[in-house]
Amino acid sequence: MATASCQLCSKERWQTFSHIAFGLWDTTELELKRQHSLYPLSQCQHCGHVQVSVQYTNDLFAKLYFHSAQEAVMWHESLIASHAPYQEMINFALSGLDDINNLLGLTQQSPKTVVDFGCGEGKLLAATQAALPDSELVGIDFNDRFSQTNIRYLAFDLNNLEQLTSDAWPQGIDLAMASHVLEHVINPVEFLRGIKQQLSPKGAIFIEVPDFSAPHPLPSIGMSNLVNLQHIHYFSLDSLQFAAKQAGLRLIKQARVITGYIPRLQVLLQAANDIALNHDSTQPESHTVSTVNAVSHYQHQCQQLRAQLAAKVRAAITRHGKAGLWGIGADFYLLISEHTDLLELIASRQLALFDYSLAGKHYHGQTIACSSKLANAIHPTFLCPLLAETRIKMRAISQEWQQVVDPFFKGI
Ligand SMILES: [Zn+2]
Repeated sequence: MATASCQLCSKERWQTFSHIAFGLWDTTELELKRQHSLYPLSQCQHCGHVQVSVQYTNDLFAKLYFHSAQEAVMWHESLIASHAPYQEMINFALSGLDDINNLLGLTQQSPKTVVDFGCGEGKLLAATQAALPDSELVGIDFNDRFSQTNIRYLAFDLNNLEQLTSDAWPQGIDLAMASHVLEHVINPVEFLRGIKQQLSPKGAIFIEVPDFSAPHPLPSIGMSNLVNLQHIHYFSLDSLQFAAKQAGLRLIKQARVITGYIPRLQVLLQAANDIALNHDSTQPESHTVSTVNAVSHYQHQCQQLRAQLAAKVRAAITRHGKAGLWGIGADFYLLISEHTDLLELIASRQLALFDYSLAGKHYHGQTIACSSKLANAIHPTFLCPLLAETRIKMRAISQEWQQVVDPFFKGI
């Protein structure tokens, strides 16, 4: 793995404080093997930014997005069909634009052209259309998941925005938006600079990212997988503001709010061609240490949740002689890596393994059973994934299956 330079300040002075594990099963043989690597999570010793400090190759991107496309944000069980988080985003952006007009003594004017960079399936644009029925809306993304039939869509590589032309918005973009995108792009400064080039003279950029300014509330951690290899960058308000400054943008408005499992950091940015770069401290400042703490705290709590699951499995085996695990993926691999006694329980068949897509494969002397077999299970079987979205689907499938236990579900 080649080391990357800091994507905010270009220096290459890292302090690695943790790793992110990522792997895939090699299913070519009957016996499953894990192709598994640890990717360094580091803090830039020049500007304090926290990111995965290796270069993301095309090969790595292909692996990362092969198994799980970039999913829509999983806010909370109670918010699955809700548009509220997206309405809050557009309201934040529009009130910021109003503030700008007020400051300049201009009459209020709705943005004529609104472009969503990294629009996904288009939830934010749908909320925008409801708020701004007369505006011209465009969605841009590279993964073609867009599902809004009456909004224009452009396929474009978000890591290459300097190649973007202004054909679709000859007067410039009045409001650009990127919600839960900046943490995924290779170079956030180039991404912001690329958008800035497309702005109209009074245009602004709305950005929302997961907030790593401070440790997350314990009950939220792990439920939406905010520390994972698809997230290259971990922002605090300070580092996001620094990224904006490096791109020639200034902060107009900011907010930090928590919705369900997601601490959200929102900013509205505008071009500021005259700002000086003065974020030159050689030592990280105290605020930048907080991002390291927030990420470490997040990972530690995920480990605690896996330890709780391991304890439940052991207790069930002690009590019933046998137990099961359902969902043989990344969390399973971390669980058995951190609690190697479970491998012996797998080998002795006291711990049965269930998975729909890996059924029939062998692991540590055991044949993985299809999850449909759980309908008639007589021993407690625990869901293995932490991610709430995955467990919701598994709970829906297993409603009638008496022995299936979701060890992480605390009610809606
Ligand atoms: Zn840096």
